[in-house]
Amino acid sequence: MTAAIIDLRSDTVTRPDERMRAAMAAAEVGDDVLDHDPTMAKLEETVAGLLGVESALWVPSGSMGNLIALMLHLKRGDRFLATKGSHVLAHEQGGAAWLAGGMPEALPWGGGPGRPAPETVRHAIGGPQPYFGLYTTLLCLENTHNAASGAVTPLDEHTALVTVAKQGGLAVHLDGARIWNASVALGLPPSALTVGADTVQVCLSKGLGAPVGSMVAGSAAFVAEARRVRKMLGGGVRQGGVLAAAGLVALENIDSLAEDHTKATALADGLRERGWDVTRPDTNIVLATVPDLEQALSQLQGVGVLAVPMDGRVRFVTHRDVAADDITEVFRRLDKE
Ligand SMILES: *Cc1c(COP(=O)(O)O)cnc(C)c1O
Repeated sequence: MTAAIIDLRSDTVTRPDERMRAAMAAAEVGDDVLDHDPTMAKLEETVAGLLGVESALWVPSGSMGNLIALMLHLKRGDRFLATKGSHVLAHEQGGAAWLAGGMPEALPWGGGPGRPAPETVRHAIGGPQPYFGLYTTLLCLENTHNAASGAVTPLDEHTALVTVAKQGGLAVHLDGARIWNASVALGLPPSALTVGADTVQVCLSKGLGAPVGSMVAGSAAFVAEARRVRKMLGGGVRQGGVLAAAGLVALENIDSLAEDHTKATALADGLRERGWDVTRPDTNIVLATVPDLEQALSQLQGVGVLAVPMDGRVRFVTHRDVAADDITEVFRRLDKE
């Protein structure tokens, strides 16, 4: 018998549990394009409340949520600032430039892992521009930051970054795909971490366990326009209540993300004891620096442990479908090697 695979590639690999499937089966539905699916409406209202914003819109993916926000913030040729290695820069096929018309400026992590220093933002914005100058109109933040090993931006730093952006006349978009993890790690409600952001994107399909779905949120006026753009991009769905029902159950899983963080710390500690060079995770992502990436990934795969490459390192992500025992089992398998 082959040992079960321990899948640590991403917190997106979770499968909907029985409770979620039952809620999906029982969902009240309408036609969300023609008018408003009632379960979609309920999810949108719930998420807007959690994020402390006026309004929210379900979208099929986080990439679409970010794209819609950028399309509405940016005019063609506008420059926007984003942290180095952020999802909008590195993992969305250049949609920010191709479809939103923005010219990206990647900012180094001077403030801490995954975040620029406020001074860097101030410098990047520069002073008022002549009519032939370049317009910088948007700052994109990411909390937690995927490529920075799930690093959390603390509230005071978030506030300082938003403040310099506003002083420079910029709008702020927060990619909060894993804002729930930041909220749990800091012991603060998600709404505390969105203060000053004009728009926010959050994922339901990662650690919270929904099979599909993200939300893009902001003012009611923003969401009205976002609904039009979502339809244009092919993201309007009909009986979406089936998916929104999964999202509502997913939101009940926020507190349990603390267990994912504990599992990630256990994984990092155990790997370090075994001589691996690993990050100390703030949340649920562990990055390992290895001499030979291909070899490390295939060694892991050989013992039924799945991880992915990220910026030359091995990325492990803990989630609700791996138990604490599975982490111990990873060590058992590595020790047998
Ligand atoms: C996963 C992720 C997204 C969205 O990804 P989709 O696969 O398009 O849902 C956006 N931002 C960050 C930081 C992410 O980790």
